[in-house]
Amino acid sequence: MEHKQTPILSGIRQRCGACGEGKLFKGYLKLNDACPHCGRDMTAADTADGPAFFVGFGVLILMAPFLFLVPMSPLPVGLKILAMIGVGVAVTLLCLWLLPVAKGVLLNLQLHHKAQEASFDKPPRNP
Ligand SMILES: [Zn+2]
Repeated sequence: MEHKQTPILSGIRQRCGACGEGKLFKGYLKLNDACPHCGRDMTAADTADGPAFFVGFGVLILMAPFLFLVPMSPLPVGLKILAMIGVGVAVTLLCLWLLPVAKGVLLNLQLHHKAQEASFDKPPRNP
């Protein structure tokens, strides 16, 4: 069954942006070379460190307040240490959860918009 997918929604679901069915990843972050459902080539796009950048900043903005609130709270020291360990665990789990999502979205957006490496050459003119 073929139905049109937006690159962002299918990326969040970690599915192919063209058919919305085939899985993007064969491992945690290891991409399939082509969509197992429709065969779309996935080697044309390279998200590099883009997903890590966006996830890192998003989680930082979300979790940074706790790095100030926990030490300044009136809790006993033992609870503060436990809370800081909890913040560390939460940061780690959030990043691990969001990384494949961000990579799926960025990859689908690159493929959808036919992103290319930047160059100084003029784009080919239409006849
Ligand atoms: Zn597909």
